[in-house]
Amino acid sequence: MVVKVDSFDLQDMCGYTSHHPRWAIAYKFQAKQATTKLLDIEYNVGKIGSITPVAKVEPVSLAGVTISSISLHNEDFIKSKDIRIGDQVLIERAGDVIPYIVKSLPELRTGNLKPVIYPTHCPSCNTPLVREEDEAAWRCPNPDCEAQLIQKLIFHVSKDAMDIDGFGEKYIVRFFELGWLKNFADIYNLDYDKIAALEGFGKKSADKLKDSIEKAKSNPIYRLLHSLSIHHLGQRASKLIAERIAHVFDLENWTLTDYTSIKDIGPVVAEKVQDWFSVKKNIALLHQMESNGVNLKQTDLDKPKQLITDGVLSGKTILFTGTLSRMGRKEAQDLAESLGAKNISAVSGNLDILVVGEDAGSKLDKAKKIGTVQILTEDEFIALANQ
Ligand SMILES: [Zn+2]
Repeated sequence: MVVKVDSFDLQDMCGYTSHHPRWAIAYKFQAKQATTKLLDIEYNVGKIGSITPVAKVEPVSLAGVTISSISLHNEDFIKSKDIRIGDQVLIERAGDVIPYIVKSLPELRTGNLKPVIYPTHCPSCNTPLVREEDEAAWRCPNPDCEAQLIQKLIFHVSKDAMDIDGFGEKYIVRFFELGWLKNFADIYNLDYDKIAALEGFGKKSADKLKDSIEKAKSNPIYRLLHSLSIHHLGQRASKLIAERIAHVFDLENWTLTDYTSIKDIGPVVAEKVQDWFSVKKNIALLHQMESNGVNLKQTDLDKPKQLITDGVLSGKTILFTGTLSRMGRKEAQDLAESLGAKNISAVSGNLDILVVGEDAGSKLDKAKKIGTVQILTEDEFIALANQ
C-alpha cells in the first residue's frame, strides 16, 4: 500500500528529496503469522486420485480465523521443509486467505521426531500409488476407488460442471453411504419419496432437489463432458470439443488427430479423452445416463458463435482501447462482431484493427511499434460501420 498526502497544495509544500516525494510512503503489511503444533497428517484422495497431504494442527487463531488444518501440497513440500509430526510449525495466511506452513522449527523439537513416511498405498482402497513423470502428486490408479468416486460425484454436481443447485457435498456423501449413488447415472434416477422421508429433509426440499436435477438433464454437452472428471479435460477444452460433435457418442470414433487438430487442444488432453471413450464401462455409463433423461446431443449453447462472413470486417481481429464517447465498450464489441470481426484482448501481430478512444495508453504505443495494426478513431470506426 502507498500512503499519500491527499491535497495537491500540501504535496507542493512537502516537496521532494533527491530520491522520492516527501508526501508519499510505502507501507508494507506484516504477513500474519503464528506458531502451533503439527498433530498429524491426513491424506486426501482427489477426484482423479491425486493424494494431498493435509496437516492437522492444534487449533490456532490467525487474523480472526481459527485454523486447524493446512494443505501440505505434496511429498516434496514435506521433505524440503523437513516437516515432522509433533513439530512446532510457523504458519502464515498468505494474502490473508489460505493458510500456509512457512517452516518447521526443528530447534524446538523435543524427543525423537521421525521424518514423515509417505504412504505407498491409497488410504481409501489400498491400491499401490503411482507417480507419473512431471507430476508432483502421487496418484491412486484404481478407477473404482471409493474416495475418488465420491469426489467425482461432488464435482459432477458442482457449479463448474452440471451445476445442480442445492446438491452439495453433504448430500452426496449421505446418499453414497445409503448406497443410492454408485455412479453419475444414479444421480438422475433418485427416489424422491425416500429422500423426502430422510431425517432433516421433508417433501419440500426433496422437490427442490428434484427440480434442480431435472433442469440439469438438459444441460449443454460441454457441461456433461467437463463433469466426467477426465484427467486434464477442463472447461475450455470441453467447450472446444462440444462445438464439433452432434452427439457425445461421436467421440467413440474420434482419433487422436481429431482432437489435436483443434487449436488449443494438446496431445495430453487428446490421449486422456480418447482413452476414456475407449473404455466400454464408460460408454455403458453414458448410455445409462441417457436413458435416465440426460441430454447427450449438441445444444444451441454448445454451437460456436456464428461468425458473419460477408461483413465489412469479416476475417479481421479488432480491439478497443481507451474511453469511447459515443458508445459503451460492450456495444462497440457487439457492433464489430455483427460486422464479422473477432474481438481479441491483446495487442500482438495477430491484431488487425485497434480502435482508440480517449486516453488510450500502452496498447496504442504497442500497436504503433508493431506497425501492421490499422489504427482507427472511434469516429472512423463508426463511419466504417455505416458504409
Ligand atoms: Zn484408491
